[in-house]
Amino acid sequence: MCLVPVLICAKTYSWGFYAHRQINTYAVFLLPPEMLVLFKPNIQFLHEHAVDPDKRRYAVAEEGPRHYIDIDHYGKFPFPTLPHAWNDAVQKYSRDSLMKRGIVPWWIQTMLYRLTNAFKEKNQVKILKLSAEIGHYIADAHVPLHACSNHNGQLTGQHGIHGFWESRIPELLAEKEWDFFIGKARHLSDPLEFTWQRVLESAAASDSVLSAEKKLSNLYPSDQKFSFENRNGVLVRQYSADYTIAYNKLMNDMVERRMRQSVYAVACFWYTAWVNAGQPDLKNLTNKTFDETDLQEFEKLNASWKNMQGSDKICE
Ligand SMILES: [Zn+2]
Repeated sequence: MCLVPVLICAKTYSWGFYAHRQINTYAVFLLPPEMLVLFKPNIQFLHEHAVDPDKRRYAVAEEGPRHYIDIDHYGKFPFPTLPHAWNDAVQKYSRDSLMKRGIVPWWIQTMLYRLTNAFKEKNQVKILKLSAEIGHYIADAHVPLHACSNHNGQLTGQHGIHGFWESRIPELLAEKEWDFFIGKARHLSDPLEFTWQRVLESAAASDSVLSAEKKLSNLYPSDQKFSFENRNGVLVRQYSADYTIAYNKLMNDMVERRMRQSVYAVACFWYTAWVNAGQPDLKNLTNKTFDETDLQEFEKLNASWKNMQGSDKICE
């Protein structure tokens, strides 16, 4: 077989597809029985569509800012002058400049509002689509490099660190070593503040994500830092298993912790939407099948994602 070396350099938008799908899947098991009747039979949908928002980035320009916030533009941690409420933030900075720096904390609130309405309408298709997608944005808010303008180490000579943190580490370690037994979802009395807490934790962690990698990188010659692996007949260059494990250790299992917190947060948001909608009976919903428009939308997302993947050769 002829193997062509390829450097993995996928666009760095969020947790990798693997982690997003796992987060939505594990979150289902934190729900009460009244919700499990809907979420468990549809777990495959929630798994599969956890990544739709990333696919949409290739098709819809305004999608991008919903996944991150370059919070360091707003001063110093904990950014006391940045208003947490959307309207106050717009008044202070204008919508355009907020969009430029990313809006993930506020977009989660929009999605929560939509999901709550879908529960009130008892509309199964909407509930499932919005649940899958809000899970994505909540998980993104937990990634330190989504709360930092040096999101792929581009300012510090650490290109590739984004995918390293959120894809390579969970893909190598999550199934073998990590524990996702987390407990039960709870109702969030202040979802906006809950989100901001998580975003601020991400922002605070971003410095150590970058500095730990810098430190480790100085100790490793490049032929030990990277290795080649055969993936479906393609030889790919990626961070070596040794290097990945050493980095994970140096960060004290931060990736596992943030992934577990993502799972918990996703379940809490689903549960909060359902409670705030008056706990509708999920055994009796309307609009249970995806219509032609839904199916075409899924097709379109897949097609635009595949098209872009082919031309997406430049690492950020
Ligand atoms: Zn994303």
